[in-house]
Amino acid sequence: MSKIAIFPGSFDPITLGHVSIVKRAASLFDKIIVAIGVNSSKKSMFSLEKRKEWIAEVFKDYDNVEVESYTGLTIDFCKKTDAKYILRGLRTAADFEFERGIGQVNFMMDEDIETVFLLTEAKYTPINSSIVRDVYKNGGDLSKLIPPEVIL
Ligand code: ADP
Repeated sequence: MSKIAIFPGSFDPITLGHVSIVKRAASLFDKIIVAIGVNSSKKSMFSLEKRKEWIAEVFKDYDNVEVESYTGLTIDFCKKTDAKYILRGLRTAADFEFERGIGQVNFMMDEDIETVFLLTEAKYTPINSSIVRDVYKNGGDLSKLIPPEVIL
């Protein structure tokens, strides 16, 4: 049975922190689907098409990494794609508390799906998409925050 993981998030835009998690996890799973969650009440800065394009470009040399988008519950998207693992990154204790709730509720809903966590590389701990958007809006240098394939 092939081990399929989904890596859900908004990726608005994808950052070096996300990239590091996916690349490190690529050898642990047969396939990773970077899954852009589309939430109609959460307005994104960058279009879904752009976010997808950037992710596809970043992982173009990784045969087992794909990008898709989904609406609704992550657990339902797992069922649809036969994924038995949800991959998440952990930066801080705040991430842990947030992830604990989501992960435990997902487990209550489907015990066949496990959430797997990787610790962030220390240098990427402060990076999140909202800081990237802020630096972008104010014309700052993004080279240490996002991969070169993301051309904003
Ligand atoms: P959302 O925008 O839906 O909150 P994120 O893009 O913030 O989603 O997060 C998606 C996943 O990526 C989460 O598991 C999050 O912990 C992880 N992540 C985000 N930034 C980093 C980072 N700098 N290092 C490691 N993991 C990260």
